[in-house]
Amino acid sequence: MGLGLQNLVASTSLGYPLPGECPDGQLSDHRSGDSLAELSSAAWSAQLIGVRGSLPASGRQTQRTGGATTTLLVRSSAGVLLVDAGSGIANLRIDEGVPIEIVFTHLHHDHICGLPFFTPLYERGREITLSGVGRGEAAWSQALVGAFQPPYFPVPIERTWDARVALRALAPEGDEPLLGVNLRWAEVPHPGGATAFRIETERGALVYAPDVELAKGADSLVALAQGADVLVVDAHFSTEEYPRHVGWGHSTPAQAAALATSAGVGKLLLTHHAPWRDDAAVEALVDEARQIFAAADAAREGMELLFLDPR
Ligand SMILES: [Zn+2]
Ligand SMILES: [Zn+2]
Repeated sequence: MGLGLQNLVASTSLGYPLPGECPDGQLSDHRSGDSLAELSSAAWSAQLIGVRGSLPASGRQTQRTGGATTTLLVRSSAGVLLVDAGSGIANLRIDEGVPIEIVFTHLHHDHICGLPFFTPLYERGREITLSGVGRGEAAWSQALVGAFQPPYFPVPIERTWDARVALRALAPEGDEPLLGVNLRWAEVPHPGGATAFRIETERGALVYAPDVELAKGADSLVALAQGADVLVVDAHFSTEEYPRHVGWGHSTPAQAAALATSAGVGKLLLTHHAPWRDDAAVEALVDEARQIFAAADAAREGMELLFLDPR
């Protein structure tokens, strides 16, 4: 289990520069390999490089929260692990030679739309693995690359890659060491199915579940998130909106806060913000969650969580 919050620093990109960020706090030309050398064996960091759901959002009214769709970037001394390939992934640069794996929660557009724009895929000599749980009739790898074929995409995406790309189907549940962290995953309720991931070393644990309808069953996620330092979870709909969207696959701040309480996590971050939700409305959802679970906040684009060595 994690060492607790004294070794975990949460900060956002908007206040001051962090390792791997530009001084102006923007994520463009962000190089994720830069801080790898600074991380000793069990230390790792997680950065939210996309926190929107369904569609990217633009405009000044969403700037504080961020407009890119879902992606989590995990850095360890062994490599870079990405969960999902939302629109924010297009700005990512990763140092030569750093191993990369992308694991997908599921294949809805907002979670894969950045994949063709992920520049390491076009770097000769690079090795990248893409992994996800197979669902439905098509093989998982066919379902992924099939989303980027004519007429939806100009060319079959896999013919354009210069990197050596391996496609790997995961079992619905699993637990394995991967790129310097331990990865555990479980199935959660969402139309067509979705995976939630627990990323952990002895320095701490983060659970990432950007798409889950908790009202349809929270047991698998309560178990996966038990005692985690940080839980990043779907709070797409407000309590007022949810009754009109039952079955759409998403949750509310109150449901997320109840989950955080049941699982005994250290900190709750609400994510998969609806594309129409401006910054003030996101803060209102955070206030709602805090009535139930005090250590709640909004996931914001650029927010980085550091799981460092003991002081
Ligand atoms: Zn989504
Ligand atoms: Zn989805």
